[in-house]
Amino acid sequence: MAISRRNFLKVSAGSAAAIGVNLFDNPTLRSAFADAIKETPIIWLAAGACSGCSVSLLNSLSPRIQDVLLDQVIPGHHTEMAWHPTIMAASGDLAMEHMYKVEEKPFILVVEGSVGRAENGTYMEVGERNGHGIPITEHVERLGKKAIAVLAVGSCAAYGGINKANMNPSDSVGVGEFFKEKNISTPLINLPGCAVHPDWFVSTVAAILLGGLEAVKVDELGRPLMHYKKLIHDNCPLRGHFDAGRFAEKFSDEFCLYKLGCKGPVTHSNCAEKRFNSGTNWCIENRHPCIGCTEPEFPYEGSMHDKVQLQQVTPPAAYPPISTEHKQGVDFTPTYGALAGLAVGAAGMNMLKKGDNGDQGDLDEKE
Ligand code: SF4
Ligand code: SF4
Repeated sequence: MAISRRNFLKVSAGSAAAIGVNLFDNPTLRSAFADAIKETPIIWLAAGACSGCSVSLLNSLSPRIQDVLLDQVIPGHHTEMAWHPTIMAASGDLAMEHMYKVEEKPFILVVEGSVGRAENGTYMEVGERNGHGIPITEHVERLGKKAIAVLAVGSCAAYGGINKANMNPSDSVGVGEFFKEKNISTPLINLPGCAVHPDWFVSTVAAILLGGLEAVKVDELGRPLMHYKKLIHDNCPLRGHFDAGRFAEKFSDEFCLYKLGCKGPVTHSNCAEKRFNSGTNWCIENRHPCIGCTEPEFPYEGSMHDKVQLQQVTPPAAYPPISTEHKQGVDFTPTYGALAGLAVGAAGMNMLKKGDNGDQGDLDEKE
């Protein structure tokens, strides 16, 4: 169900509060937000991309994409997607002239897709000069130096993603690696995901406009903490099954998907809360393991369904540990609830280790 403009603004205010900025209680900031939206254009470059991240953004129903891009966010002001190869009306030389004009003012650069360096970037060209295509490497370097901030949207732009997978004939890298190579120091925010969730993009842009770049707190991989702080595993509706040692052996089973290759225990994002297609569903509730699409290792060497090594044992954040008939004898008193979660998680890990050694033991035991 689509939400109203009023509710979207409330959600935006909530995001701002989460990052320490209370926009709607502060007239100065509110005014600054309006001016910033009016004056800060976005140039969206499609590099080595399948356009899935654009489609994800364009599919946003709540708020609708036309609300985000075209309508007035605050009376008299709207976001300005000044250059986007898929949705802009102009094409050819007209479009390129517009890009060159926009980049003379302060702008935010969005890169979708990896930067392919093979053959001097000629596998990925945008526009022409003197009858020759202009390589994406030239655009990313030029615009990357001029932009006030850069958003690498999707896993390919953030880390190379699918294009950087084994073989990598286009010699693709993420924007961060390319910037390092070219000594570009423009602030870069990574929004990995295959595809990116529209809220991750919209709220990050809003946060930059609201409170400046420093308002967007990021982790060591440059991902905004407001979306990528927690593990999928900690908010998973199947976490109780994991803690109790009940694992799906086939996709139709109702239990935890760890043994079918779920990367939730090592993957950071808030997919369980945001869900996709305007909140319709998400990977795990669709009975498919998380494939770890927000992590630099994605798409992983080997099979997508290989088990990951468990690195942390943290109690579930969204669901309380469940009581179980298992043999570990954990005391679930309220005072020690978090500790119990840790203990049960550890029990799950021990059981998994046993299973990995060929002794299925408790792994095959289901209630
Ligand atoms: S391993 Fe995957 S399916 Fe199982 S609880 Fe963790 S995130 Fe959920
Ligand atoms: S659940 Fe995992 S694979 Fe699915 S979108 Fe989220 S991070 Fe990516």
